[in-house]
Amino acid sequence: MTGTRITPGLDGVPAEVDVVVVGLGITGAGVALDAVTRGLTVLAVDAHDLAFGTSRWSSKLVHGGLRYLAQGQLAIAHESAVERGILMDVTAPHLVRPLPMLTPVDASMTRGRTALTWAGLRAGDALRRTARTTTGTLPRPRRLNATEALGLVPSLRADTLRGGLLAWDGQLEDDARLVVTLARTAAAYGAEVRTRARVTSATGTRVELRDELTGQAYAVRARAVVNATGVWAGDLDDDVRLRPSRGTHLVLRGATLPQTRVAVMVPIPGTTARFAMVLPQPDGTIYVGLTDEPVTGPVPDVPVPSEAEIAFLLEVVGSAFATPPTRDDVVGAFAGLRPLLEVAGADTTADLSRRHAILTSRTGVTTVVGGKLTTYRRMAQDTLDALALDGARPCRTASLALLGAAPADVLRRSAAPARLVRRFGTDADLVLATAREVTGLTDDELLAPVSDAVPVTLAELVFAITHEGAHDVDDLLERRTRVGLVPADRAVAEPVARRALELVRACSTTPSVLRTTT
Ligand SMILES: Cc1cc2nc3c(=O)[nH]c(=O)nc-3n(C[C@H](O)[C@H](O)[C@H](O)COP(=O)(O)OP(=O)(O)OC[C@H]3O[C@@H](n4cnc5c(N)ncnc54)[C@H](O)[C@@H]3O)c2cc1C
Repeated sequence: MTGTRITPGLDGVPAEVDVVVVGLGITGAGVALDAVTRGLTVLAVDAHDLAFGTSRWSSKLVHGGLRYLAQGQLAIAHESAVERGILMDVTAPHLVRPLPMLTPVDASMTRGRTALTWAGLRAGDALRRTARTTTGTLPRPRRLNATEALGLVPSLRADTLRGGLLAWDGQLEDDARLVVTLARTAAAYGAEVRTRARVTSATGTRVELRDELTGQAYAVRARAVVNATGVWAGDLDDDVRLRPSRGTHLVLRGATLPQTRVAVMVPIPGTTARFAMVLPQPDGTIYVGLTDEPVTGPVPDVPVPSEAEIAFLLEVVGSAFATPPTRDDVVGAFAGLRPLLEVAGADTTADLSRRHAILTSRTGVTTVVGGKLTTYRRMAQDTLDALALDGARPCRTASLALLGAAPADVLRRSAAPARLVRRFGTDADLVLATAREVTGLTDDELLAPVSDAVPVTLAELVFAITHEGAHDVDDLLERRTRVGLVPADRAVAEPVARRALELVRACSTTPSVLRTTT
């Protein structure tokens, strides 16, 4: 591995590479890692920043494919369960944890719906077994009585509660963190990873780019160009047409639904198998999601939730809790756009089209679109297989651990600060060593949480700048950390983010931690 890092802008970019990857959401970051670990030279760029698009607005779940199973799509469901297992056991066990998910059996759950839900959870468990994920990683589903259900979520409405159904899925520490870790891993293997680098036009063998910091234009030749720009894919390739749909989540403080340590699935009235989710987060907040609203018109840089979506989510989940959350409890809300594909004049890889699509257009650009965060690795493998570039080695990402990855028992024994271990795995020590060397500050200052409600530390903000390509306050607060999901917390954290930027800029010499490998 080299010491290559993620850099804003295009200064010194190579004139020719094997593969240019456009877009650094989960899809592009995954393609960059797959390509570079096959021995290809790679330039991967994003117009804004790592995880700028849909990849930071997800539910942060690593799904086992239950929904596909309900639609009778067995192969896709199996693939999703296999990829979940790879993420949890091999590639990112430091960033994905088992999440218990409780479906309360209360007045809203008829006997029929309860039986159907239980059958679905049992089928999901069969998927887990066929994917060879052990019960050590994801325990079997269980039926609970009302006392047990209340023990897990004391804020549930007790008067109508008859019991609960408990199942397990994967939960990400943070979706943007997975993207950043993937990009850093790709860079460590030698990929050129550039942010603030917009592709303005592309063919299968050439891209024109603009450095968004300087305005300067560049051209890079390549043997293949991969369009991984998600909902913006049609801007780069006229053959790709998308119809986005918006999914919204609310952010609540943990104290709004006290001691909610497991996710709660609340049936959506009038549906037979749809649920709203109450998702406790590792940082102490709780997300409530998810809507599905068709969107028309130009694709915005940052989608905005509507008041109607917020009211809908509050009403659905409110029915399950003794003290329903109100509009005043909503301290943040975020929305992401799902790309729904329409294809014209392109060659679709037919057997892939229902899970993710790989299209080679008339211009020769290869677009990879759709799928899930969960299946990013398989999408990347299929893309590079479809390109079939001379000299490319077989895919090796199914057994390749991302930077910082280690089994949970190893991480539990780490002496490094718990928050850093949770977000950086075995790299927690590197984060702290970097911050010490760059700033000369004490550990007390580097590891102090920004406030009681904001667990972010100066150490991780410094590391985001030195090792993760963070360029400004937005990068630090919206994507390297997720403070920005709660505007009031962002205001408190801004001075600390600015201080981190000043401290790194004031450090004139290259610290030894930056001269060694990543
Ligand atoms: C609300 C919601 C919830 C979801 N929840 C889950 C979940 O819990 N689990 C799961 O597995 N999946 C989930 N998904 C699906 C998953 O989030 C998406 O499939 C995935 O994030 C798409 O990633 P992407 O990299 O393809 O696109 P994006 O993340 O949108 O990345 C595209 C990137 O391309 C860049 N770009 C655009 N144009 C250019 C250009 N011209 N030059 C350079 N760069 C450019 C953008 O800046 C952006 O960073 C969810 C999706 C939504 C909408």
